[in-house]
Amino acid sequence: MQYVSTRGSAPALDFEGVTLAGLAKDGGLYLPTEWPRFSKAEIAAMAGLSYPELATRVMMPFVGDSLTEEELRGLCEQAYGRFAHDAVTPLVQLDQQQWLLELFHGPTLAFKDVALQLLGLLFETFLGRSGKRLTIVGATSGDTGSAAIDAVAGREGVEIFMLHPKGRVSEVQRRQMTTVRAPNVHNIAIEGSFDDAQAMVKRMFVDEALTSRMQIGAVNSINWARLMAQVVYYFAAGLQLGAPQRAAAYSVPTGNFGDVFAGYVAHKMGLPIKQLIVATNVNDILHRALTRGDYSAGTVTPTATPSMDIQVSSNFERLLFDCGGRDGAALAEQMRGFESARAMQLTNAQQEGASGLFVSARTDGDEMAQALRWAHERAGQVLDPHTAIGLHAARISDLDPSVPIVTLATAHPAKFSDAVERATGMRPALPARVGDLFAREEHYTELPGNYEAVRDFVSETAATD
Ligand SMILES: *Cc1c(COP(=O)(O)O)cnc(C)c1O
Repeated sequence: MQYVSTRGSAPALDFEGVTLAGLAKDGGLYLPTEWPRFSKAEIAAMAGLSYPELATRVMMPFVGDSLTEEELRGLCEQAYGRFAHDAVTPLVQLDQQQWLLELFHGPTLAFKDVALQLLGLLFETFLGRSGKRLTIVGATSGDTGSAAIDAVAGREGVEIFMLHPKGRVSEVQRRQMTTVRAPNVHNIAIEGSFDDAQAMVKRMFVDEALTSRMQIGAVNSINWARLMAQVVYYFAAGLQLGAPQRAAAYSVPTGNFGDVFAGYVAHKMGLPIKQLIVATNVNDILHRALTRGDYSAGTVTPTATPSMDIQVSSNFERLLFDCGGRDGAALAEQMRGFESARAMQLTNAQQEGASGLFVSARTDGDEMAQALRWAHERAGQVLDPHTAIGLHAARISDLDPSVPIVTLATAHPAKFSDAVERATGMRPALPARVGDLFAREEHYTELPGNYEAVRDFVSETAATD
């Protein structure tokens, strides 16, 4: 399996290459040259498999020659063995139509563990073979950082620099990052928003001063391997709800468009999906893009759902490429226009290509709190605010009541206990597996929101040999 960049001018790479590269050299994102497709019979044969076995089946076509099936199975067993639920991603029914797919049973309580636990092992495997080192730089609005740090802390050959916007992540999120003591982990709090941090990270990937000295890798969802690992749970839920005979819809609390893009990939691979509902908070660039073709970035409004407080959604570029005819040169031009004007109009092909499968909904803070209360009163379920945004979007959908709608429960409610308490009066407790988070000492470096300062810190601190 070969991978090409959405901007058309970076070299094609194999799976090992894209896993270690992250962002493509031309500033684009990697996608497989073609979508592998399962037959109905192959999908039917997946029913009842354990999660690691299902993951092996679904991901193997993407891995190509980079791992044997045995190696991939071993990594999946190790990664998913760390989850606190036997089903890894259990499905819970709320009412006749509404379901929750609980993705937060990993070590840091958010869905990002599902992909990052595997990615940490992939890094170690590939680096161990070549004897190379990898310096990860990442930006986080909260959950990526803790999940990535947990996944790579203490692993051989890899070092991580994680930027978070100072004061804009929850205390639990910050402590999950800053209390990890491992010599290969560096936390940086920068002045500014998540988008500022993400823009700096993107710039480091194409900065010769850094890339000539060290190989830079990504753990954000620009890394293809992350999206690939997320495809698996769409299959897991779909199979339980009757795939390949019956199609479900999925409502996905969305920020960087990674999680919902994995649903698009599952659909391309043959999983029947009625609809993908892109659920945004008031930072609604994706809602505007999908309803009107207007992809224009405003300023970020901080909300109770910080992992969705985003104006620029990196992975949307993958959809625009795939729906818009896979023309890298044209997309590179379009994205350059967006980067200078912070606004662009989708082409007709892009709009039409997306509209068959995707719908979107924007949910404000009051509606989010209502959905939280509804789940609690109706089904005794305490949700996190991100999940509640997804559930609200699912509940206002006009899909036929016979279509099951699966809301992706992207975080454990205890990660956002203040917002949950405000809406329901209940304060969810942290599960025992996170340990004495509030007693441990924090370590991080504060830097101004200035690219050179951050780059120089990375350059001077990273171990090179
Ligand atoms: C990261 C995150 C999201 C957004 O996911 P994307 O893949 O960036 O769209 C939503 N909810 C939670 C809790 C998250 O951590």
